[in-house]
Amino acid sequence: MAKSTKKLIKEYKQNLNKLKRQKVTLVIEEDFLYDDEMHRLYGLALKDLNIVKLEKSMNEKLRLYVLVHELVHLAFPKATEQQVLSAEKIIGECLWKQGYRRVLQ
Ligand SMILES: [Zn+2]
Repeated sequence: MAKSTKKLIKEYKQNLNKLKRQKVTLVIEEDFLYDDEMHRLYGLALKDLNIVKLEKSMNEKLRLYVLVHELVHLAFPKATEQQVLSAEKIIGECLWKQGYRRVLQ
């Protein structure tokens, strides 16, 4: 293995470890998201890394609901999908009706 490759892998592992230690949740947008069986997804929570991935193409309301959904997965890793969906509906609906919107800078 080339020395530069080893260096890159070392840097990658260091960055990964740094992310694992951080309590801040990182939100990353991607063009397309898929699960392990290649089904399209709107969002994905990487629990071990505290990362939420969101598909770029969603409208703002759906984006808010999906973000809440994935954050609930991170906050309550043992919650069932049905519990997460219930929390998403309650929190997403309330935030949307209260006028919370993303401010793009
Ligand atoms: Zn879910």
